[in-house]
Amino acid sequence: MATEKCTSCNVPLANEGWTKFPCPKCGEIIYRCHDCRHQSIPYECKKCGFMGP
Ligand SMILES: [Zn+2]
Ligand SMILES: [Zn+2]
Repeated sequence: MATEKCTSCNVPLANEGWTKFPCPKCGEIIYRCHDCRHQSIPYECKKCGFMGP
């Protein structure tokens, strides 16, 4: 099914509750799993290195 992985912790996004949004800097799609959203884990864009909450 989904091959996307969480940008922060790299788990496959199989469960519901994850989200995706474009990087504010370069527009690369960022994926975040439920846990990382819930715990406000920072993400880092793999393309441009932008870090955000
Ligand atoms: Zn995660
Ligand atoms: Zn970026």
